[in-house]
Amino acid sequence: MVRRPNGERSSVKCRVPEVILTNRDRSHHRIAAACLIAAAATGGCSTEQGHSRGGGPHKLARPAAESPGLAVAGHGGPTAQAAPAPQAVDPAELEAAAKAAQADAAAKQQADAQAKAAARAEAAKRWGVAKTPLAAPPPPATKPALAPGAPGVKIRPGLPPVVYRVPTTDKVVFLTVDDGAEKDREFTRMIRELGIPISAFVTDYLARGDYGYFRELKDQGVAINNHTLHHPDLRRLGDDAQQSEICGQQASLQQQIGVRPRLFRPPFGEYTEESLRIAGSCGVTAVPLWNEEAFPDRMEYRYGDHLLKPGDIILTHFRGPDVWRGDMRDMLRRVLQVVTDQGFALARLDDYL
Ligand SMILES: [Zn+2]
Repeated sequence: MVRRPNGERSSVKCRVPEVILTNRDRSHHRIAAACLIAAAATGGCSTEQGHSRGGGPHKLARPAAESPGLAVAGHGGPTAQAAPAPQAVDPAELEAAAKAAQADAAAKQQADAQAKAAARAEAAKRWGVAKTPLAAPPPPATKPALAPGAPGVKIRPGLPPVVYRVPTTDKVVFLTVDDGAEKDREFTRMIRELGIPISAFVTDYLARGDYGYFRELKDQGVAINNHTLHHPDLRRLGDDAQQSEICGQQASLQQQIGVRPRLFRPPFGEYTEESLRIAGSCGVTAVPLWNEEAFPDRMEYRYGDHLLKPGDIILTHFRGPDVWRGDMRDMLRRVLQVVTDQGFALARLDDYL
């Protein structure tokens, strides 16, 4: 805060001809940084008068051509008045402002991460999860490239790639949940409170009794993907029937959940080249399969070393105690035990594929 020569208080936005920025507190540093950007964009900054402590909106000057009362020469109006030339801003001051803003952001990020970790540990205790699950790193800015020959990826020209393991060096694996028979709302609450991302592959005839359950999952960030209308073995179907099963479920999910999935998983992991072509024709860009399968009482592995690898896809199901020795919460406890013990975090498949 500074005083103008006439004693009027002014909330300073940046250096303007009659006001010099002297207060070096953090918020002014941030404002100075914002003004640098504004100066670059508009050739000037603004001051607001009489609201020194109110924290009111920080308005930036509009470009001259948009300001009322000013017309641009050559457009029929009166000749534009030149705005006062902006003064040079002290680079050292701006650098300090940028550093202070950066330090602020880093401190806030750290505090957020600590609060999240504490909430996660608390939720883990509440849900009987032995070790607090590790937090996934931020999603990659660009999805990993699926190159021919990459382990865990099958690529045929012009067809959606089939993926067992996403090529990544992040220490993450992905939990995918198929079919839709069991609709366990305690499981929904558990993954929300633990912050565990999953991707669902939904079969219409199993979900249809309560699509609301899957809408709730979607609303809390679960990716909803395609697992056909009736869960057939696609190898036994003709082209038209495959088209109906795959593209029909794209349309059904669009109507019921409001999503048109990019990911498709064929029932039993069985498909033909035609299945892939049809899936590609109705918007599918990748076909994830799996390297591990999770149950409440065990994990099954495709490979004998029983070790997770970065990018592995884990399969499980919306199933309950009628077919399992346990429920979906027991299944998740089992998965988290294995994943955390091996030093991995669960991440969201759709962010990587
Ligand atoms: Zn299935």
